[in-house]
Amino acid sequence: MRHPMLYGGLELDRAHGLRHASDPLALARHPGARICLYWRGRQPVTGEPPVAALTDWASVGSLIDSLAAPLVLLGQDGEAPVVAADISGLEAPEDGPDLGLGRWVMLRSAGGTLPRQDAALLAYARGILIWRERTRFCSVCGQPLTVADAGHCGKCSDDTCGAPHFPRTDSAIIVLVTDPQGRALLGRQPVWAPGMYSCLAGFVEPGETLEEAVAREVWEEAGIRVRSARYVASQPWPFPSSLMIGFMATADGEEPNPDRTEIEDARWFTRAEVSRFGEASAPGEHGRFLPSRDSISRALIQHWLEG
Ligand SMILES: [Zn+2]
Repeated sequence: MRHPMLYGGLELDRAHGLRHASDPLALARHPGARICLYWRGRQPVTGEPPVAALTDWASVGSLIDSLAAPLVLLGQDGEAPVVAADISGLEAPEDGPDLGLGRWVMLRSAGGTLPRQDAALLAYARGILIWRERTRFCSVCGQPLTVADAGHCGKCSDDTCGAPHFPRTDSAIIVLVTDPQGRALLGRQPVWAPGMYSCLAGFVEPGETLEEAVAREVWEEAGIRVRSARYVASQPWPFPSSLMIGFMATADGEEPNPDRTEIEDARWFTRAEVSRFGEASAPGEHGRFLPSRDSISRALIQHWLEG
């Protein structure tokens, strides 16, 4: 299985030591700084195949100033700070502002075609800016937060409270279950495009280990008792704020009994059957297709197919 998963493996120095002492605005003004823009869920890419389109203060400084755009220090590339800027305050057509940078894409639509380092950088920027956008008030006392640690912490503005709030990551397990006949359990949610089958997944609950979450989700969604579960790999999934924790698990192969709510269908498939699944753009046998190539779900299925 290829490690790390897409959206992970960023080689950028996250410059933890700089966060406490530095104002991200001053860092963005640094002559060598690279600025990673974000606008209403979209990020700029250029070229074909695409690469991330980063910019600099000379090009977008006045825009950032005029919008008082939220900024986050992502890290340092040599001496050059790398800063994420949320310019969602800018009014623009649905497909993004024309800043001469290229086209504005949703990461999920472009992720699999970007260089892996670019996909990881955009995932990081997207994840932390979405957290900033959605975390503006103290969840303890309700007062506004002030930004600290170069964008990586929101501190309650009420002196008697003062609670710090850190970027949130929601842990979710994702699991490919196999049976003694070598078949894999795949299911589909009613909200997915018709024909797509994927691994089972769900959020980890308080007071639960990852292995327990695997067993619970597979039981709840498919009515199958897992015998053993083994961690394989994880993937940052900033859509909006998950960490997908991938497992391979075994079960006895009894008939699935999907819950019909979260999962409308779950069944055992042989390798031969799954190898005849197509892609979303060209579904295969019975109109079925696999999840997109940027996902850990696809990687788990591919790993099993080749195993
Ligand atoms: Zn508070």
